[in-house]
Amino acid sequence: MSIEKLKASVRNIPDFPIPGIQFKDVTTLFKEPENLAELSQELKKKYAGKGITKVVGIESRGFIMGPIMALELNAGFVPIRKPGKLPAETIEESYDKEYGRDTIQMHKDALSPDDVVLIHDDLLATGGTMLAAYRLVKQSGVKKVYINFLIELSDLKGREVFPDDVEVDALISF
Ligand code: AMP
Repeated sequence: MSIEKLKASVRNIPDFPIPGIQFKDVTTLFKEPENLAELSQELKKKYAGKGITKVVGIESRGFIMGPIMALELNAGFVPIRKPGKLPAETIEESYDKEYGRDTIQMHKDALSPDDVVLIHDDLLATGGTMLAAYRLVKQSGVKKVYINFLIELSDLKGREVFPDDVEVDALISF
């Protein structure tokens, strides 16, 4: 199977959740067993051998392939969540969205300076969410950070918000 086939499985929903947005629906990608197998193999190929010790997934669509990647890479999985969801002491980052500000949190003891981290989310649009996640992970002083998306909306140039020394990758580009 090819990346083009995976791309064809992503459903486009026009004007969701608001007029003008072309929403990329990944449920149609994930529901096919052969797609899941292909995604996990492609991601494993990309990151095997990089010494990744933790995959950090962003709530909520980063919780689907994130743990699968962690299993494939013999790494642990760490969730980044919306405020008030994590039970122990947290660290947080806030970022501007189109309307107002948003905050994300991670457990303070989830990562250590020895960790090599792969942060994963389903989709890169403006990059605001992932940049906040990157800053959150950097608060823990980890050794190295990689960033992965399944899908990139390349016209929005979201990858330009990340520092040059961070490897940013997306499997599928629209
Ligand atoms: P951003 O912070 O602008 O990069 O937005 C990324 C987050 O919003 C991801 O968690 C995506 O799941 C979601 N998102 C933004 N735009 C879209 C879109 N067109 N289709 C599906 N999800 C989107």
